[in-house]
Amino acid sequence: MTSQRTRDRLVNRLREQGIKDEKVLDVIRKTPRHIFIDEALSHRAYEDTALPIGFNQTISQPFIVARMTESLLAEGPLKRVLEVGTGSGYQTSILAPLVGELFSVERIKPLQDKARQRLKMIGLRNVNLKHTDGGMGWAAKAPFDGILAACAPEEVPEELKQQLAIGGRLIIPVGGSDNQELKLVIRETETSFSTEVLECVKFVPLLSGTVR
Ligand code: SAH
Repeated sequence: MTSQRTRDRLVNRLREQGIKDEKVLDVIRKTPRHIFIDEALSHRAYEDTALPIGFNQTISQPFIVARMTESLLAEGPLKRVLEVGTGSGYQTSILAPLVGELFSVERIKPLQDKARQRLKMIGLRNVNLKHTDGGMGWAAKAPFDGILAACAPEEVPEELKQQLAIGGRLIIPVGGSDNQELKLVIRETETSFSTEVLECVKFVPLLSGTVR
């Protein structure tokens, strides 16, 4: 169930669905998604689906992880990247090998604690985790060349836009529970931003405050 063949099958499916970046596909092929999921569900780890991780949250669907990562990196490698919503740490572990330094924030402490253990187990060294409300970004570490959010606000938070470097890319689901769009926001100049809609998606909401 966790064999290389099972993982290869998932990667082939993602390729069929239009994921083209071989570097992204390669990291997905090498990453053991089953360690990011509770044992009772780990037999479903290589299905292309979101799965519960507790606290009403989900590990993201592999296709969406691949699509967001590919879009974030579409114009070349990024040095400093912020992730909002570490969750299980799965998206973190796909992104980290492909960027210079990754900063990842999570508002639910027990999820962050588990993610930290898993990332250590995998041996990623360029990841910095923080327990905080990521709707505010991580100002002390800004500016970022890329920001990826795994939870959906009603509107793109101004703080996240302001923490982008010029030319920086923000990938974020935006909207209510039944009409979300995945958006790509690019900071063209100090004061101007372009926005493109990539596709319809379904993410958990971005909530404010933190949980201990
Ligand atoms: N990419 C993660 C997805 C986790 S679900 C994975 O693959 O596991 C989205 C996560 O965003 C949840 O863990 C949720 O707690 C977190 N989240 C929601 N609002 C947040 C906020 N304001 N700041 C930080 N994290 C937030």
